[in-house]
Amino acid sequence: MKTAYFRFYAELNDLVPFESRRGTIVYPFYGSPAVKDAIEALGVPHVEVDLLLVNGRSVDFACRLRSGDRVAVYPVFETFDITPLVRLREQPLRLIAFIADDHLGKLTRLLRLLGFDTIESHGSTNKEIVTTAASERRILLSRHRALLKCKAVTHGYLVRSNDPLEQAREVVRRFDLWAQVQPFRRCMACNGLVNAVGKEVVLGQIPPRVAAWRKEYFTCSDCGKIYWRGTHYPRLEEKLVRILDTETPTT
Ligand SMILES: [Zn+2]
Repeated sequence: MKTAYFRFYAELNDLVPFESRRGTIVYPFYGSPAVKDAIEALGVPHVEVDLLLVNGRSVDFACRLRSGDRVAVYPVFETFDITPLVRLREQPLRLIAFIADDHLGKLTRLLRLLGFDTIESHGSTNKEIVTTAASERRILLSRHRALLKCKAVTHGYLVRSNDPLEQAREVVRRFDLWAQVQPFRRCMACNGLVNAVGKEVVLGQIPPRVAAWRKEYFTCSDCGKIYWRGTHYPRLEEKLVRILDTETPTT
């Protein structure tokens, strides 16, 4: 039996067993496993990690663990440049698009409200979800660590909160999305793009009491759903404000 020593930094501590947080974890092992396997055995999906140092040297996931190694594991850095070090994956995806697992329906709708291309996995097998994420270059959002541990997942995020608004805040923060938000650009029901249409186009399809006081209408280019700024609109705006607020500390 050999031993290595792991230290997880910042929010990665949310993912390791409570008693091991913010301290050195002694990791017993046989053979020479890849560092990726050891990190995931300790509970942290590789997609959460952006920098690995073994004995102070920057390495990639395939690096083999040796007895006595000291491994420092860092999350995605938002605030400082680590380009001289080994990046564990390609540069960030240029066009942001997501695939969310079946249990994140409300988060999916909120991300669409923010204008982000987001599809649901809809009962697909794990293998199908991972294949779709890779082929369509979508970031995988999940509450299941096992799914995010799949090697084929290059971009993903383990959603922490149970609350959909807080989940949306997490995603915006994690992928630094503030500048890319385009509210009301997508259909919350189907992810299609929403375009403005003349009132005459939708007149026969909207309630007369709405037609009497609303001038602007929008339709989804995919499912045809008609949108207008009705009584629900202030509630949606309030949700946007709460998601995008950078001041309020999160729990
Ligand atoms: Zn639609």
